[in-house]
Amino acid sequence: MQILRRAEEARGFGRRCRSRGERVALVPTMGFLHEGHLSLVRLAKSKAERVVVSVFVNPAQFAPGEDCERYPRDLERDLALLEREGVDAVFTPDATEVYPPGFATRVTVEGALTGRLCGASRPGHFAGVATMVAKLFASCEPDLAVFGQKDAQQAAVIRRMTEDLNLPVEVVVGPIVREADGLAMSSRNVYLTPEERLQAPALKRALDRVTALHQGGEVRAAALLEAAREAIASAPLARVDYVELVDCQSFEPVDAARRPALLALAVYFGRTRLIDNTVLGPSDHL
Ligand code: AMP
Repeated sequence: MQILRRAEEARGFGRRCRSRGERVALVPTMGFLHEGHLSLVRLAKSKAERVVVSVFVNPAQFAPGEDCERYPRDLERDLALLEREGVDAVFTPDATEVYPPGFATRVTVEGALTGRLCGASRPGHFAGVATMVAKLFASCEPDLAVFGQKDAQQAAVIRRMTEDLNLPVEVVVGPIVREADGLAMSSRNVYLTPEERLQAPALKRALDRVTALHQGGEVRAAALLEAAREAIASAPLARVDYVELVDCQSFEPVDAARRPALLALAVYFGRTRLIDNTVLGPSDHL
């Protein structure tokens, strides 16, 4: 497994693969890997001959006062896990490689796609994500890139950017991987106190409750959102940031889930903000 530190090295790796007729898949991550990340690696491996995983905690996607400094990191462990998965290369640049002095460019996707949900709660977050992913695409020149539905809005933003800028990268979205009790895996779960961790599966219970209501014929957003809030309220430590029902592509709110719609939620437990979602429609994923 090759460890790539500089953008030129990543580009060289991608180009050598493609000159041999091999497709290259990129899996962008912020490290501190868990089964969710590894499921994306396996999906990438099933779709391309070569897999590059990037590991970089991107300061540009954290708002001031967020957890950028204390975000969990363990590169050694990440490399061991990726080696075991048979990953071909890991691109792990340092911050001055990504943002050298004088860096002044931002990629901004506009409209409801970035203005609502996580975009409203985390100003500048999606511009930070889009700028970083654009740089990763320019460095690694992947044929395809794999993202998780866990961050459904992020995946939609990247799809929009890729299409709008005619970037020759196929965007693939993998399903959400969960702990046995339903909590969506996240690097941030380590922040939870034991008591918060016990209550955190309320998010999945809320999604399940709404899915059951929807399957029973309830399509009205007001009723579905009320049921979700009620289920979350069963966890006394939970503080809702948002619970929304939106169109899967535009992220505009819908007042009925008649076509596939995304039920998305963000909930604080103490200072830790967890997100989760499900698609209400013929299948539960994007
Ligand atoms: P992160 O390291 O949190 O920035 O996540 C890197 C990628 O892994 C993103 O595309 C996430 O959506 C994806 N991801 C994070 N958690 C999960 C999960 N539980 N299941 C599937 N994919 C995930």
